[in-house]
Amino acid sequence: MSNTVSNPVKPSDEEQAVRRSVDAQFPLVAQLVASGRQGAPLPMAPPAAPRTWTFTDRDTDEQMTFTCMVGCTLNHASDVASPTFRQDIWCQAAGPEMWLPINTDGKPEEFRVLGITLNVRPWDRKLSERLPHVDIEFIDDHWVENLDPDGLATVIRTLAERVESLKVAHAQLVAVRAEYMGRK
Ligand SMILES: [Zn+2]
Repeated sequence: MSNTVSNPVKPSDEEQAVRRSVDAQFPLVAQLVASGRQGAPLPMAPPAAPRTWTFTDRDTDEQMTFTCMVGCTLNHASDVASPTFRQDIWCQAAGPEMWLPINTDGKPEEFRVLGITLNVRPWDRKLSERLPHVDIEFIDDHWVENLDPDGLATVIRTLAERVESLKVAHAQLVAVRAEYMGRK
């Protein structure tokens, strides 16, 4: 009559071993989860001293001086070389890429997943873009944009819960395959 789902409170040694194995096989995911737990820094490029440079505002011909966001990895050469609309100026630091084979039309192809960029657009017409924020590319040009620290924390929490579900699915898969392959 009852329809209970087995959900062990304490992971067994075997489950803990499986989780360690997942951590070893998917270090980026493990790092993402760990950063949510421990507040470790995201895997961005190490902060460099921000550069200061000048450009000509295309609307006003005014010489503008601008100091990059800490950690910005863009070289801004084209912004410096020719008059530029100030609202087109932006700084970015990108996290490492992750790729997975995903099937959208019959055969798996490599797609970039969970891309992370830290950005600021100091003169953007959307005010929320003018403060440093994170954009996440979940898959191939499908973005969650404009995350402030609370928004990013929400995404991290959601993904961390999903990773826990993946670990449970992994342990189930190991057990179900072992039973299946052991049949006479
Ligand atoms: Zn910059």
